[in-house]
Amino acid sequence: MGRVYNFSAGPAMMPEEVLKKCAEEMLDYHGCGQSVMEMSHRSKVFEEIINTAEKDFRELIGIPDNYKVLFLQGGAWTQFSAIPMNLMKNRKAGYIITGQWAKKAWEEGKRYGDAVALASSADKTFSYIPDVSDLPITEDMDYIYICQNNTIYGTRYKELPDTKGKDLIADVSSMFLSEPHDMSKYALLYGGVQKNVGPAGMSIVVIREDLITEDTLPETPTLLKYKTQADAGSLFNTPPCYTIYTCGLVFKWIKEQGGLTAMKEKNEKKAKILYDYLDSSKMFKGTVEKEYRSLMNVPFVTGDDELNKKFISESEAAGFVNLKGHRSVGGMRASIYNAMPEEGVSKLVEFMEDFEKKNS
Ligand SMILES: *Cc1c(COP(=O)(O)O)cnc(C)c1O
Repeated sequence: MGRVYNFSAGPAMMPEEVLKKCAEEMLDYHGCGQSVMEMSHRSKVFEEIINTAEKDFRELIGIPDNYKVLFLQGGAWTQFSAIPMNLMKNRKAGYIITGQWAKKAWEEGKRYGDAVALASSADKTFSYIPDVSDLPITEDMDYIYICQNNTIYGTRYKELPDTKGKDLIADVSSMFLSEPHDMSKYALLYGGVQKNVGPAGMSIVVIREDLITEDTLPETPTLLKYKTQADAGSLFNTPPCYTIYTCGLVFKWIKEQGGLTAMKEKNEKKAKILYDYLDSSKMFKGTVEKEYRSLMNVPFVTGDDELNKKFISESEAAGFVNLKGHRSVGGMRASIYNAMPEEGVSKLVEFMEDFEKKNS
């Protein structure tokens, strides 16, 4: 079987050029006679790999000098704990509940202090983003937390919340590097890389320097302290070396694509192809309010479980894999991250049109 179009929400498709580069450099990285998998994380060669990755990442986003970039193990979920442990100094913070990942972060936050739900879209199964223009934020809140793109439900913020001067923290796992990120709006921006950046095994945390202090909750493990990791340049213990290397290749690939503005244009074009079809189809329907539609994760349904099943199995056989929706939503979901070529989306739409004709 040749390569398929993989619509998985994560781990997800990687740019083919990057996979080829990995293969090419697998046995002998730049003439050093070893694979990146085998080399010491304290070696000169690896130092160059991690420094270049950070430099390219900083350039892509345009990260100001007063922010640190941390490459951390444990996935995005680990940050649900690390964030309150490091930053909930007053033991109070505001969370906006727009889906399962925001809810899980909120629940984790509640273990450490008063995590207040400022707004929620749970009333309509998270199919929209609540009004965030005038939230009940109080003076004693340490930060305001959002999940900016909701992987499972397929919504995204159109406007960031008015935090009334409080620090904004955003989980951007499923939209990382899919469009420009204006760092001046965030105190901390982070995401697991396995959705839109690289292979699983790492989160990247971008954090404003003044937030990195010794003053964490007393029970904070050494490895979860941002200060530990920042002081050691993400090399306190063995980092996910191979994932850092692969992400570095992806950063170069995005630069070659024209950077984040170009990425955004490509992603808007791809999403439009799919949404336009969903809006015209009599069989398939998108599940979220139009103005909050994600560019990355597109859930849709037929309204008939049997037909959904048939579609999933026939699309899989035709080389469009992982279109089954998240178990909590049902139906289908197409995740169309940076690495999904436009051709993959238009071919999927052709397949859907054909399926619709044959089954109605
Ligand atoms: C997948 C996902 C997570 C969880 O990521 P892990 O790396 O598996 O811990 C958190 N937030 C969002 C928005 C996600 O899409």
